[in-house]
Amino acid sequence: MTGRQILAELHEEDDFFLLAKSVGEFGDRELVPYLNRLGAEEFPARFISLAANNGFVGSAVPAEYGGQSGTLEGILSIIEGIAACDGSLALTLAAHESLATSHILLGGNDRQRHNYLPRLTSGADIGAWCLTEPQAGSNIFHDMRTRLERSPEGWKLNGEKTFITNGCHAGLFVVLARALSENGRDDGITACVVESRGNEERIARTALHGKMGMLRSDTALLKFDDVPVAGDAILGPFGSGGKVARQVLLRGRVGIAALALGLARDSLERAAVYSKERKVAGGSLFDQPLTQAKLSPMEEGLWVAWQGVRSAARFAEALKPFKVQACMAKVFATEAALRITDEAIQIMGGYGYMRDYKVEQNYRDARLLTIGEGASEILRFAVARNLLDQDRGDMGDVIPHLENLEVAARRGRGSMGSLWGPGWRALQLASESVRFVREQVRQKCHRTDLVSSRQCEEVRFADLATLLWISNQVVLAGTRIVEGSSASPKHIRMIENFLIHSSIEVCHQASELLRVLGLTETKLCRNYIEALQIGAAVNPPDRPSPMPLSHSPRVSESR
Ligand SMILES: Cc1cc2nc3c(=O)[nH]c(=O)nc-3n(C[C@H](O)[C@H](O)[C@H](O)COP(=O)(O)OP(=O)(O)OC[C@H]3O[C@@H](n4cnc5c(N)ncnc54)[C@H](O)[C@@H]3O)c2cc1C
Repeated sequence: MTGRQILAELHEEDDFFLLAKSVGEFGDRELVPYLNRLGAEEFPARFISLAANNGFVGSAVPAEYGGQSGTLEGILSIIEGIAACDGSLALTLAAHESLATSHILLGGNDRQRHNYLPRLTSGADIGAWCLTEPQAGSNIFHDMRTRLERSPEGWKLNGEKTFITNGCHAGLFVVLARALSENGRDDGITACVVESRGNEERIARTALHGKMGMLRSDTALLKFDDVPVAGDAILGPFGSGGKVARQVLLRGRVGIAALALGLARDSLERAAVYSKERKVAGGSLFDQPLTQAKLSPMEEGLWVAWQGVRSAARFAEALKPFKVQACMAKVFATEAALRITDEAIQIMGGYGYMRDYKVEQNYRDARLLTIGEGASEILRFAVARNLLDQDRGDMGDVIPHLENLEVAARRGRGSMGSLWGPGWRALQLASESVRFVREQVRQKCHRTDLVSSRQCEEVRFADLATLLWISNQVVLAGTRIVEGSSASPKHIRMIENFLIHSSIEVCHQASELLRVLGLTETKLCRNYIEALQIGAAVNPPDRPSPMPLSHSPRVSESR
């Protein structure tokens, strides 16, 4: 078995498979030898220019600014593939590309884009994006203290930013600050570009050591002390930089989700290879039913989470609102990655726990990802707040009614029920349960902000909605690949299993949430029981788990 088998088996149907494959080859050819020459905590200073020389930087930047005119979806495959090689490299790229570069692209005028972007896309300069401050991370838009002050001599930047990726090595910083007029009026959050060259004396950079993971990434505390900022280095719109920063964060979150899945894929591949070689009870560890029962859900979790990440990126690409989708995709993918990297260590036993084995590094690297670029709690609040909004009659733009989903998926080519059978019925039960419980939560939670007595219930609702949304993306992707005749029997089994198990979970959790609200509803209990019955009928106890990592014939050949 080769190290790239899971990439091939799970993602061969993906439009970006060839790009993902070439990123993997670049990793093997250039990054692994480079990493082997670096110290365990040494910053890979040549990485961005190596990646740029191979065409993997600036992929979503228009060609006129030095990029490849590609899409956000393309960046995801690049970040995922680099993460499978090394988490720190992927974090370095994500901060450079999804944050610093994106902000200049979204907030810069044509002259600013021409001025700064080619330096970032060519790898001549490394970019850093400075939002977080020592006193505030999640709450930063309400408590930003870095100041961009107007004086008779021009603009001056003062303040501290912390946890800044690439902070010690960046040539260009995009800094978010409060703009203050000469008379001290607060003109709102504004972004500016600060160059490190010429400001060495006025920017104090302190490397933050002692991280749990991402050891080769550069994390810094920055102090800006009367740094002069030219008027043409102020990005737009003046006073509304927070709005652009939020858009940047949404794109960044999808990138972090892809990074998480790269770490998870690498861990799964390594655990699978190890288990084939490890002998236990007269056979290989891989062949033990319990090992199979671990590897299959890991593989399923990876594929399923990827559908969510891709779908969120497509919304962004189509210039549709994708805030809720980006939050759901990040929470789901980063938490799946934590489970998968953890289980990989368990499968590899004592060796998995040792620094010499990369699964140990992947696990520590993955731990950052439910915190950075929006902690999971904050993202769950955002999901709940949007889906429970009293002013929205329905949540149909995020999670459509199943009839609408069917129209979107089949476009008149027959029913989803006949294609997905019991899985589709289970999804109907889950969808009905979530819609019912949403009304109950809305009635109980009259809320306008995060400080709600019903915060815990809202978070539980966010989880239900996320699982249902992911199931919808799985059924859409599944239908697409079946109709494109590129689904293997393994894909089909995986999709059917997921639809049924996730629907059981949704129905169960919906009943539980209702109980927490002090209510019961016979209809929800019936839905749960019917979902369980579907699961029992489709998956009787003696049915073997699908064999992971087997090369399966295409469905068009076997059906
Ligand atoms: C290695 C690393 C790299 C980073 N890179 C960058 C970078 O390049 N640029 C940048 O600007 N930032 C960066 N960050 C900062 C990162 O984005 C923040 O750490 C993150 O946003 C969380 O902020 P915080 O650490 O201040 O935690 P806090 O906001 O203090 O949150 C702490 C905990 O409390 C929870 N919480 C917060 N508010 C509530 C509430 N109302 N109710 C219930 N729970 C709540 C959070 O979910 C979290 O679990 C980086 C961080 C790290 C560790």
